[in-house]
Amino acid sequence: MKRQQFGVLPDGRSVGLFVLENSNGCSAAVTDFGATVTSLVVPDQRGRLSNVALGFDAPDNYLAGHPYFGSTIGRFGNRISDGRFTLDGHDYRLARNNGPNHLHGGTTGFGMLLWRVTSDTPPDAQQLELNLISPDGDEGYPGRLDTSVTFTLTDRNELRIDYLATTDRPTIVNLTNHSYFNLAGPAGESILDHEIMINADRFTPVNAGHIPTGEIRPVDGTPMDFRRMTPIGTRIDGDDDQLSFGNGYDHNWVLNRSGEEPTLAAKVYDPTSGRVMKVLTTEPGVQFYSGNFLDGAFVGRTGRPYGRRSGLCLETQHFPDSPNQPCFPSTVLLPGETYRSTTIYRFGLKP
Ligand code: BGC
Repeated sequence: MKRQQFGVLPDGRSVGLFVLENSNGCSAAVTDFGATVTSLVVPDQRGRLSNVALGFDAPDNYLAGHPYFGSTIGRFGNRISDGRFTLDGHDYRLARNNGPNHLHGGTTGFGMLLWRVTSDTPPDAQQLELNLISPDGDEGYPGRLDTSVTFTLTDRNELRIDYLATTDRPTIVNLTNHSYFNLAGPAGESILDHEIMINADRFTPVNAGHIPTGEIRPVDGTPMDFRRMTPIGTRIDGDDDQLSFGNGYDHNWVLNRSGEEPTLAAKVYDPTSGRVMKVLTTEPGVQFYSGNFLDGAFVGRTGRPYGRRSGLCLETQHFPDSPNQPCFPSTVLLPGETYRSTTIYRFGLKP
């Protein structure tokens, strides 16, 4: 692992950039600011290496605020309705940073904080462990949450992310990573020609305010059916309530899974480069977000603005608004328990 100085925070603390490299020439760059993946370099079908993760070269772009490019999301991925939930009879009010709702952990969120590199990071390994302590009451959440995120680049061309968290009071937690991918590389424009498979028979429909209705609905016969590889653009602008509420795809799929090991959640293929990305996870859900709100306001490292649908996210997670949805898997974490979650982004080529 190579360590570089990335920048300096207004309070003088230094921000690092950590580059993990594997034996195939692939690399993953992660900054301790927000435990953020800034680039992910993998080969195409001609053996050419290029970056498939949207991001910036200059730390100031990250410090200035952005729509979660590569960020670690915490304490809670996606929306909590009305920024409220009840736990053990106590009402908690969270920061409302997305209309009336709480989104991706609140006003600051884990993606805008400086993490600490832990001493568990082996100096010679392709691994980086970062730690963050979120104090009791942070963004309105109960309990002091002690979180660590470990990024590992394997020789199988996988970026593996392992999350751990503990608390000293009952709380809720739902961590994820918000990388935007364009498998065509830096010159890639829209992701609408990418094909995707999502290993899910069901999804959680939302209302017009992007909050799950609580229903778990079969994908059968809907534009949410990605059980076979399908170009993202085929149905995205179809006449469908869910697509209009989401502005495209911005939904949680209920993964078909069993057991404790990471299992296949989704597979993405870019026909121009031949690149394939498989996402495996221990989580019950994945948010497939087709970058609908990117609008060209952010200019990436190639000097080109990141336009609408120029990147896609596959955010492994517990379901949005779980604390207010009794039928969804629980996101409660109690003192003495350890929250664990693993997601693997595995890169390859179409056989
Ligand atoms: C959410 C979108 C949100 C976006 C922000 C996604 O995870 O599902 O609704 O606008 O993050 O970048």
